[in-house]
Amino acid sequence: QVVEERPAPAPPAKDSDVAISHPERVIFPDSTLTKGDLADYVATVAPLMLPWVAHRPVSLVRCPQGRARACFFQKHDAGSFGPHVHSVPIKEKDGGTEPYLYVEDADGLRACIQMGSIEFHGWGSSIATLEQPDRMIFDLDPDPSVTFYDVKRAAVHIHDQLAELGLTSFAMLSGGKGVHVVVPLTPDAAWPAVSNFAERFAKALAQGDSDRFVAVATKAKRKGRIFVDWLRNQRGATAVMPYSARARAGAPVAAPVAWRELDGIDTAARWTIRDGDELVTRAGSAAMRGWGVADQILPDL
Ligand code: ATP
Ligand code: MN
Ligand code: MN
Repeated sequence: QVVEERPAPAPPAKDSDVAISHPERVIFPDSTLTKGDLADYVATVAPLMLPWVAHRPVSLVRCPQGRARACFFQKHDAGSFGPHVHSVPIKEKDGGTEPYLYVEDADGLRACIQMGSIEFHGWGSSIATLEQPDRMIFDLDPDPSVTFYDVKRAAVHIHDQLAELGLTSFAMLSGGKGVHVVVPLTPDAAWPAVSNFAERFAKALAQGDSDRFVAVATKAKRKGRIFVDWLRNQRGATAVMPYSARARAGAPVAAPVAWRELDGIDTAARWTIRDGDELVTRAGSAAMRGWGVADQILPDL
């Protein structure tokens, strides 16, 4: 009797027990990148992502059939993500309570990918201090006629204005069209104070330089200008998380950068999910050390 020896099944990538079904499915048709490629990317950058993504409410851009087909923005727990994706009940404005999603480790990120997620967006506060944001963001949204060169100049201008107020800020390429200026905060002031500060800062900027900036979302008023989107700083609003992939052509990622290297970068989609190893190396560089970290509270404005 001959016992046929079968090869052992391949272990899941990076020692995870979260299996990825259909890893060969092409989800970025323009660049022939697959669900498996995205899962590998996320496993590679998980140590960089988790300090920002873990233990805070996240919303997911899910595109089960790939980015070229229908995508949807999922805020609430659907109960189908398995044991590595958790839920936390959060009171909403209308008085109701909804379960929000959160993850705490690489398996949680991977389980989201398994469920067809491409993008990770997060609240500006973590679950432990849900009512006190730990970051403020100015999301620079340029009108299509504005060059990336001008977006970079605008980001540096905002950095300088914040510095004059005593605030340290950091730059992140969104992976799309813009740059996010991120201001880390010690969780102290509550949402209304932070969003009020962000609103007044953005409006003062627009008033001082109305050729370049606008602080209202109205597209018609954006012509040739940059919308300083301060609305990311309202309770319940989200922004794309550092190192998240984007469901856009070429599979770009949201990438933290050092202020001094921003000058040499000519697109907000500079890095893609092919660049996981490079991003890990970069994150350990002297220029990037300490990115996103500052122990500070908002001054009076
Ligand atoms: P870009 O640089 O191209 O502007 P971005 O990530 O800043 O990229 P925005 O269009 O400015 O994109 O989006 C702002 C934020 O709005 C997103 O980061 C996301 O968190 C949130 N958002 C996106 N889609 C939805 C949606 N369907 N419902 C609610 N919020 C959303
Ligand atoms: Mn934006
Ligand atoms: Mn925006």
